[in-house]
Amino acid sequence: MLESLKEKVLQANLDLVKHKLVLFTWGNVSEFDRETGCLVIKPSGVSYETMTAEDMVVVDLNGKAVEGKLRPSSDTPTHIEFYKAFPTVGGVTHTHSTYATAWAQAGRDIPFYGTTHADYFYGDIPCARSLTQEEIEGEYEKNTGLAIIERFQRDNIDPKAVPGVLIKSHGVFAFGKDGAESVYHAAVIEEVAKMATLTETINPNVKRADQFMMDKHYLRKHGKNAYYGQGK
Ligand code: 13P
Repeated sequence: MLESLKEKVLQANLDLVKHKLVLFTWGNVSEFDRETGCLVIKPSGVSYETMTAEDMVVVDLNGKAVEGKLRPSSDTPTHIEFYKAFPTVGGVTHTHSTYATAWAQAGRDIPFYGTTHADYFYGDIPCARSLTQEEIEGEYEKNTGLAIIERFQRDNIDPKAVPGVLIKSHGVFAFGKDGAESVYHAAVIEEVAKMATLTETINPNVKRADQFMMDKHYLRKHGKNAYYGQGK
């Protein structure tokens, strides 16, 4: 089942390598098929060099592998929580990309310092809290998703307008309408994290850029008055 989605999800996972967002077997991408209520995700710990579409695993929202010979990504329960909580999310990417993960380890939201950020994120990129010992020793991957969702709900963040998040002491989760778009957003997060790091290195007293700059840049690319590009 979902043969063409398996090809798409394989390609999205291989794009993590192309964009230099992963080393070894780190990272994972999934895409959700709302019709069947199943997601397709890469297998756990399999090399990107040898991975095939047939290796992709189909999983339902209860975490049951419906099809596939291999064990699904260890982060599957995190992805599942996002598909359950966020109706506009159709793809999820996880990475340990260097600069973004450094911000996650530091436990800091990435502040809005310039237009590269505002072209894709309408707000700071949040860093969700550390998990408690109980949460880590219990259903760890599911609890990772729940801690992230808690942050979005607490601050009323729309995952469409802020399509990605850091999780303290861990790494990145990026969202999109499909797997490919979530990979794109993961690449943007890494680049924005790198720029923010350099910005604070050059000027440790730098302040967030102006809200009217964020409004201009985000809204010229998104929403009903967008005018960037060639239209749909
Ligand atoms: P999987 O190979 O199980 O997807 O794990 C990769 C990873 O980055 C874990 O956080």
